[in-house]
Amino acid sequence: MSEQDCIFCKIVRGEIPSRKVYEDDQILAFHDINPAAPVHFMIIPKKHIASLGEAEEEDRDVLGRIMVMTGRLAREQGSTDGFRTVVNTGRVGRQDVYHLHVHILGGDKPLPGMIHKSK
Ligand code: AMP
Ligand code: ZN
Repeated sequence: MSEQDCIFCKIVRGEIPSRKVYEDDQILAFHDINPAAPVHFMIIPKKHIASLGEAEEEDRDVLGRIMVMTGRLAREQGSTDGFRTVVNTGRVGRQDVYHLHVHILGGDKPLPGMIHKSK
């Protein structure tokens, strides 16, 4: 999947609309189109990194920034008492979109023990 065809790169470039949660020079957060919890958004690096399995040393800064932003953005979205982060990776991890993304799932009630993919 090239950056040209990547759906999340298209969102970064503004070619596909998204419901934006946060943006800075390195990262973008937007709501998941098919939410699995009352609060469900994703944080992505603007740089195309196909998966966590392909992250490199030079990606350390942007990945750190993503993790540091999770708490603030989750609280701002109404998940004030905790949340879950999920990074599906590769075939075994059932990754669907091959542009690294951290799911943030939450709300005001405890989540199920595990989030299962429906299909
Ligand atoms: P994953 O299975 O971890 O690769 O998750 C991909 C996620 O991207 C799924 O939860 C989809 O609902 C979500 N998704 C796919 N296309 C879009 C889109 N255009 N805008 C927002 N979320 C999307
Ligand atoms: Zn991409």
